[in-house]
Order: sequence, then structure tokens, then C-alpha cells
Amino acid sequence: MRKKTLKDFDFKGKKALVRVDFNVPLADGQITDDTRIQAALPTIQYLINEGARVILMSHLGRPKGEVNEAYRMDPVAQRLAELLNKEVSKVDDCIGPEVEEAVNNMQDGDVLVLENTRFYKEETKNDPDFAKKLASIADVFVSDAFGTVHRAHASTVGVAEHLPAVAGFLLQRELEALGDVMENPEHPFVAIMGGAKVSDKIGVIRNLMDKIDYLLVGGGIANTFIRAKGYETGKSLVEEDKLDLAKELLKEAEEKGVELVLPVDVVVADDFSNDANFKAVTIDNIPADWESLDSGGPKTIEKYSEIIKNARTVIWNGPIGVFELDNFAKGTFAIAEAMAESKARTIIGGGDSAAAIKKAGLEDKMTHISTGGGASLMFFEGKPLPGVEALDDLD
Ligand code: ADP
Ligand code: MG
Repeated sequence: MRKKTLKDFDFKGKKALVRVDFNVPLADGQITDDTRIQAALPTIQYLINEGARVILMSHLGRPKGEVNEAYRMDPVAQRLAELLNKEVSKVDDCIGPEVEEAVNNMQDGDVLVLENTRFYKEETKNDPDFAKKLASIADVFVSDAFGTVHRAHASTVGVAEHLPAVAGFLLQRELEALGDVMENPEHPFVAIMGGAKVSDKIGVIRNLMDKIDYLLVGGGIANTFIRAKGYETGKSLVEEDKLDLAKELLKEAEEKGVELVLPVDVVVADDFSNDANFKAVTIDNIPADWESLDSGGPKTIEKYSEIIKNARTVIWNGPIGVFELDNFAKGTFAIAEAMAESKARTIIGGGDSAAAIKKAGLEDKMTHISTGGGASLMFFEGKPLPGVEALDDLD
């Protein structure tokens, strides 16, 4: 990796301002899933062991630039203390005198959690003064929130202008795993693209076209391709204004020698509901008043699984059906299983795809599941991530 990491800085006695992703799901003020806090522990623990004074900042929810009691970081600080089995302090602001005083009272190895950075509208605007104030309390900046490095905010980019800036372990692991597969993929290299809309994924598809051998298409995206090929798609989700684009992509794949594979059969329903009637039909038999909610008909599952099993590298973004509804999760789960059984390096990007893998209970069988939906997509698009660009280059 060409950016500095934790090993490139001597943290002893230094005030380390760490951008973590503590944006955990909450219900009635309780944390319902602490995966993100757990993911930040290796960096935090390392800094404690190195004798740094560890100052943690994050956003939480969407308070839209105002103080919002529901999005205070207190429950996060409390959970962190439990996980570290160590005292964790918390202040009710992220800049200003209260923060300065708390930081001045820190000893080596202490941990302090700042208040939600998005209580200030300056955060998402990457306001230079605000960034300067955030940075003013520290000696070094550690970026470890992969989930937000695709956004140029004060806490992800602005602070890096004022301090030495290095990547934490989580960020480093993400960049290495994603970078490796994009730079040195073993072939056959298979990409599976699903999700609702082609328009969300054009950049990714275009960038991958130069690298991959197979593109397996599923989900709402597949419906648009199926329609572009001239089939009737009934009431399926189709982006009418993207039919020409789909045709272009089909042509581009042919020119580049990429095998763009569409479903052979799909599961259609007479309503967008788990209680709807449903059946598998070949793509030339989609009834006019039904809709395709799962690209995983039995023949499609067989075909896709075979390609995945013979692959050496697989990247997956986007469920191939409405997996949130049990009756339409079959195709998505079958993809997950084929990936789990494959000897290929398997990389998953995208929030819903990661959730689907979890739901299938196959997390441990994958090479890497990215913790950043938007950030991993931007990475697959081949675009520079602002929060990574802002870090110090290796000499
Ligand atoms: P990710 O978060 O992994 O990037 P996306 O957000 O692009 O994935 O897509 C996930 C969404 O796509 C899911 O909510 C799923 O219900 C929806 N989806 C998948 N297939 C279909 C379909 N055939 N019709 C409508 N929605 C679909
Ligand atoms: Mg999503």
C-alpha cells in the first residue's frame, strides 16, 4: 500500500485523533448491532498498547448539523468500555474548551470519545475552520472509518491537512483486500452484479469490464437487460430510460471478450409481497401482470453456481433478488453458497450484499466482506477515495 499506516508512526505519548465508524444501528437508545465498534477494536487496542492518548470521533445517524439527543455517542462509549474492559471517557462536544480540557487531562493509554461530529453542519461541508478546530487537539490523525472515506468531510479529509495522517488497521485491510483483487486478480475473474438499478452500478460495470472474464447479472438490473434483449418483463422493475445503456453494455462486453451472463429463468410473483403467488418461469415466459422478484430460477442457479465454482476470483455487489422477502431470497442465497464452496478469492462489497451473506450465515466462508457499501462501490469504480488520498504517502 502506498499510504502510511499505524506502523509508520511512533505513538508513545502522542494525542491520536482517530476517525472511526461508530455509526451503529440504534433502537430506543440501545445499540442493536455493535459490529462496527468491534471492527475498530484492533486499531484502538494497538494505540492503547503503544501508549497513545486515544481520541475517537465518528458520526452517528443523520442529525443534519444539529444537536440531537437521540444521536449522542454515550451508548457507543459505554459499549466500547465494555468491549475494551477499560474506562472510556466521553465529552458532549467534538470541538471547543470542554474537549480541550478533557484532552489535557489524558494520560498515555487513555481513551476519550468525542461527541457526534455531525452535530455540526460544518462536518459534511468539510469546513476548513471546523477541520482546523478538530485537528487542534491532536498530534496525529488516524483514519479507520472505511465506511466514510468516499466522502470528503472535515473528520475524514479536512483534519488530514493539519496533522500527520495514517491509515488504521481496518482501513488498511480494506484497501489491501480490495486493491489486491483489482490489481492482481487470478483468472477466471467473475463479477456478480445485482441490486435494484443499473444506474447505480454503471460506473462499476464499466470499470470492471477491462478486468473480468464473466459478468453475472441479477436482480432489478437483470430485468432491464432482459427487456433490452427484447423480452417482455411484465410488471418487473425495469429502468425504461436505461434500455439503450443496457444494449451498449451488452455490446461492450462482446467487444472486450467478457461473457455477460443473464438469467435463464426467474422467479415471478403476482404482487411485491412475501404472500404473493410465485413460480419460476423461463425469461421468455414472464406473464404480463407478474413481476420478477428473484433472478434465481433453478436453471439460472445451476448456471451461475457452475461459473462461480470454477472461478479463481469473485467479486459480488448487489443481491440478485428481493432477498428481504424469504420467498425471493433463494437466488441470492444460492450465489452466497456457491461462493462459499468455491476455491476462489471472494470479495463482497455493498451493504445489502453483506447483509445477505450474514443472513445466509456464510460470513466466515468469504475472503473479505467490505465494511463500506458506498466506499467499496467507489473503489470498484476505480475512483480515488478522498479520505484515502488525504493520508500521507509512504516515502
Ligand atoms: P448493495 O447494498 O449490496 O450495493 P443494492 O442496494 O444495489 O445492493 O441493491 C439491493 C436491493 O435491490 C435490495 O433491497 C433488493 O430488494 C433489491 N432488488 C434485488 N432484486 C430486485 C428485483 N428483482 N426487483 C426489485 N428490487 C430488487
Ligand atoms: Mg444497498
